[in-house]
Amino acid sequence: MNIEQFYPLFLQSEKVTIDSRKIGKNDIFFAFSGENFNAASLAEQAIEDGALAAIVEQQDFENKAKNIFYVRSTLEFLQELAVYHRKQLQIPVIGLTGSNGKTTTKEIIHAVLSEKFNVQYTSGNLNNHIGVPLTILSIKPEHEMAVIEMGANHQNEIELLSSVCQPDFGYITNFGKAHLEGFGGFEGVIKGKSELYDYLISHQQTIIVNENDPIQIEKTENYSQKITFGKENSDYQFELFSKEHFVGLIYNDIKAVSKLTGEYNFTNLCVAATLGLHFGIDFEKIKHAIENYTPTNMRSQVVKKEGRTLVLDTYNANPSSMNASLHNFITFEGSKAIIIGDMLELGEESEIEHQNILKLAQELGFNEIITVGKNFKNVNPSAKAFENTPELIEYLKLNKIQSENILLKGSRGIALEKSIDFI
Ligand code: ATP
Ligand code: MG
Repeated sequence: MNIEQFYPLFLQSEKVTIDSRKIGKNDIFFAFSGENFNAASLAEQAIEDGALAAIVEQQDFENKAKNIFYVRSTLEFLQELAVYHRKQLQIPVIGLTGSNGKTTTKEIIHAVLSEKFNVQYTSGNLNNHIGVPLTILSIKPEHEMAVIEMGANHQNEIELLSSVCQPDFGYITNFGKAHLEGFGGFEGVIKGKSELYDYLISHQQTIIVNENDPIQIEKTENYSQKITFGKENSDYQFELFSKEHFVGLIYNDIKAVSKLTGEYNFTNLCVAATLGLHFGIDFEKIKHAIENYTPTNMRSQVVKKEGRTLVLDTYNANPSSMNASLHNFITFEGSKAIIIGDMLELGEESEIEHQNILKLAQELGFNEIITVGKNFKNVNPSAKAFENTPELIEYLKLNKIQSENILLKGSRGIALEKSIDFI
């Protein structure tokens, strides 16, 4: 099967999916085989369930009469189809990457731009070599813009994702200590994330630059097609404003306060406001979007429980975001307990980074420090170092945390959110 032949069928489809359990009428099913199962065997069933077509990697399963087509690689075909579709689109596409804050930034940008446009955007965290093409393929004729999150933990991944998403505007949220293992240290992170800049520069597209970030300035200093924010003579200037731990910004004397906590979210709000203003949205409307956006995704979420304040940041963690989170949380009024989970995927630097965070937590002086995970346990001799979340839960069943404020933050693999009901 080749792309040009297949494209008209795609245009008739409802959506593209790789999950045979989620097939709806007129969908296209891409059969990605796992180690232990042969997805192609599900293709016939998919067609019976209403799918318009299925793409399989096993030649024996091809059945052209039933619109089951064989390709050499489902992944490559998916990516090529996305590239082909992207080329037909005449709308601005905004591409995001960075170590921390991509999803949050994507969500706020979407909220802001939706004040004026019909915006398609990455669903959840579908930001990898499969998620990005699926997102591109979900862009329909009625969409006027798209915001695409691109994630990576190795070199050359952002290069590939940029070539699929072909952004007209690009922004790197930050360069932080995340996925150090895969990238080969911090220099590797800078190089890997900057592949987005390489794409934008070589295609003469627009870079959004946070002028408070010296790496962003350095990487874009010889390039003129950019939109800047952050400094006094930047294109757009915002002032930080916060109200009871909720971060906001001031633009031309108008305040917009979000429902997000953590000063790092100020930058995330700034880039969304910058794009909104660039695309001609009144700040009053941007304010409306910022004030109404409610995080529900365990990222910088603040919830009240039995008179106490819980800060849920259990979606992920790495040294930069952990550091930012602890510094933010220490500003909360009243007694404070932290439950911090391991920061995974740090490779060689794991031990020292866990030590550093523990030391920082002790220096900041939280009333109670609980750690969860083997990495923290290795460096934390305290009795409140648990190996995993189930152990923490056993402890919580017998012991109540006394503090008025409780922060939960750890890597996805630690799943600290499972303990919430026991706090
Ligand atoms: P992933 O790699 O899992 O896709 P992500 O880059 O999408 O992560 P988010 O899920 O938006 O990031 O945020 C994860 C956490 O990163 C937040 O809860 C917060 O602690 C921290 N964070 C958010 N924005 C920033 C930022 N601009 N700088 C540093 N840390 C941030
Ligand atoms: Mg994300």
